[in-house]
Amino acid sequence: MDRLTSDLQTLQRFRSLHRDIAARVAGIGFMWRGSISERWLTCGRADCECAKDPRARHGPYVYWTTKEKGRSVARLLHPPESDILLEWVKNRKEVDGILREMHKLSHKALKVVLRVRLRQMRKPA
Ligand SMILES: [Zn+2]
Repeated sequence: MDRLTSDLQTLQRFRSLHRDIAARVAGIGFMWRGSISERWLTCGRADCECAKDPRARHGPYVYWTTKEKGRSVARLLHPPESDILLEWVKNRKEVDGILREMHKLSHKALKVVLRVRLRQMRKPA
């Protein structure tokens, strides 16, 4: 098999893989930026158990955090909003991962696409 045939086969494989990865995005629901975390807090009362025992801290409190203009922003969430946004943040992270895969694949594809195009340009008419 010559180089061109092998490159064209590789490209076909990359295109099919890219389509499969892109199709996963279509099935994903609503998305939300930032991240969700649980915090266990002290209440500030000196006579409360939480003042001296970290295991007696209150919580969990669910916080949503993100960066806005370089500053970290946090907001306390309550059910059902906390459950909804937990799901939506999970969806967004999944899409981020899928986009990273698509970028990686595109990088690999560029080398092959360039080789094929350059060979076609050199071909005598
Ligand atoms: Zn307390």
